Order: sequence, then C-alpha cells, then structure tokens
Amino acid sequence: MKIAILSQDPTLYSTRRLKEAGEAQGHQMQVIPYLRCYMNITSRKPSVVYKGSPLENFDAVIPRIGASRTFYGTAVVRQFEVMGVFSANESQAISRSRDKLRCLQLLAREGIGLPVTGFAHATEDIDGLIETVGGAPLVIKLLEGTQGIGVVLAETHQAAKSVIEAFRGLDANILVQEFIKEAGGADLRCFVVGGKVIAAMKRQGKEGEFRSNLHRGGFAEKIKLSPEERSTAVRAAKAMGLRIAGVDLLRSNHGPVVMEVNSSPGLEGIEKATEVDVAGKIIEFIAKNAAPGKTRDRIQY
Ligand code: ADP
Ligand code: MG
Repeated sequence: MKIAILSQDPTLYSTRRLKEAGEAQGHQMQVIPYLRCYMNITSRKPSVVYKGSPLENFDAVIPRIGASRTFYGTAVVRQFEVMGVFSANESQAISRSRDKLRCLQLLAREGIGLPVTGFAHATEDIDGLIETVGGAPLVIKLLEGTQGIGVVLAETHQAAKSVIEAFRGLDANILVQEFIKEAGGADLRCFVVGGKVIAAMKRQGKEGEFRSNLHRGGFAEKIKLSPEERSTAVRAAKAMGLRIAGVDLLRSNHGPVVMEVNSSPGLEGIEKATEVDVAGKIIEFIAKNAAPGKTRDRIQY
C-alpha cells in the first residue's frame, strides 16, 4: 500500500516510527508536510498538490495535525477524503476532538463518566458557576490549551473567582471543572486503535504538581486497566468518531472519568513506557481497513 503521513516534521519520534513501521510491513511510506500542500477543489478531479505535482494513488493517509494547525490540516485531510482516500482519522472527528468543550458535550451525550464541568460566557454569576461544579477546590482550563499550559488549580472560592475574572477579562474561553483530588496527580493514557485499547500508561505529575503531563515533568509507567476503564476509553473514542485516539482518564471515587480525547496522540511516551509496538499496530489497522474497494468513493459522517 501507499500511505502518506501528514506531518510537518519528519524528525519527530511519532512520524519516524510510523514511517519505519510501515516500511517494515512492506508499505510505501511518504511524509508530507501538509502546510505545503495546496488543493484543487473541483468536482471532476479534486486533487492535493505538493511540490508542483498532484499526490496520486495513495491508499491511506495518517493525519498528524498540530493543535495550532487544525483548520488547514483538516482541510487537507478532507480533500483526501473527497478523493476517496482512507484517513486513519476522519477530518470531522479531528475537528470535534480539538475543542475540549465540544468533546465533553459529545461524551456526556453518550453517558460516559466525566468530571462535573461548567462553562459560561458572562462573568456576572461566577458564584453560581463555581457552585455548579461543587465549589472550591476546582480546576480552571483554557479551552484551547495543551501540554498542561492553561490548566489552573484554584484552592479557594476567592482564588477561583479571581482566576475566572482574569481569564474572562482577557476574553479567553474557559471551562470550570470539579477537582478530582483522589487521582493524586496521576492520569491514565489509553491508546485506542480500531475499537481496542492496545497500550495504556499511568502518568504521575512530579512532586507537588497536580498536572501529570510529561511536558510538565511527569513520569510514565505501564499500567493494567480495569475492564471498566478499558470500556470507558473505547466508548469515548467511538463517541468522538476516532479510530485512533489517546483517551485520558482520571481515577475518581465514582469510577473512571474522561478528561480529554486526543486525535494525534504521541507515540514516544507510550511506546517507551509500555514497550508495545504502537506504530506497528496503527499500520496493521490501516492495512486491514483501507483495503482497495473498502472505503473508496465513500465518506461517512
Ligand atoms: P491539557 O490539554 O493541557 O493536557 P488537561 O485537561 O489534560 O489539559 O489537564 C492537564 C493535567 O491536569 C491532566 O493530565 C491531569 O493530570 C490534571 N487535571 C486536569 N483536570 C483535572 C481535574 N478535573 N481534576 C484533577 N486533575 C486534573
Ligand atoms: Mg492532557
């Protein structure tokens, strides 16, 4: 098969591993920086053009779209879909997952466990918003943050109020969330491929830090999930319409709760912590599902 990895940086661990794993399984792999592609949007022969020539005869694309490039990146993925090319994750599903609020609303609709979360535009009734999530301590998040930046723990009602006012004063969109203290600064990253959890790790924040992000100095180790955690992760990926997803769970007193669902989960942390060949499993899944004739000329939303 001929598979394109849509990634801006061929030297990234995830990009390199996907290319390597694809080649090891006998596929022709090409890394394509999607920001350098342009599109010919016509109903007769739609195409994606890169370095002056149309990209033709691809059987599948693996989108690795950066968080700050969602708009253009998903447009390129959508163009491949229009051309009948199988995408490891559909453009619609990627867009959906990029907005934390939208993500939580979709998960709530499916009855999946979530931390109690509030969202408001106006600042007139901050007290009401704080009460909605059970009062302080609580977590305040910027809607478009990643890597733990923009996630704040407010320990008192007054602190929460000031932080909310400050963010709203800057016109930032924020959500307010129940603080799952019992998670103890740890979360679970469940790597879902094709409706199965293929690897899972526990990330523990460094001493005194409630955020477990590896970028914030967290530490990762392999973990065995409970059946309930496993099924929550699979249901969350499905609710978002993602075939490949990194589902982050917190262990709360009332069972696993989903914090976020990532459509381009990184491979380095999970492969190193679990020693699972995640890249290989992604390629196997694509080879099985992008077989010619299976997805051609059809886009499902
Ligand atoms: P980001 O997208 O920046 O990674 P997250 O929503 O994943 O933001 O939050 C970052 C980290 O903060 C999480 O990995 C988790 O360890 C911690 N955290 C986030 N929300 C909560 C919460 N409601 N209760 C307890 N810890 C939380
Ligand atoms: Mg996170």
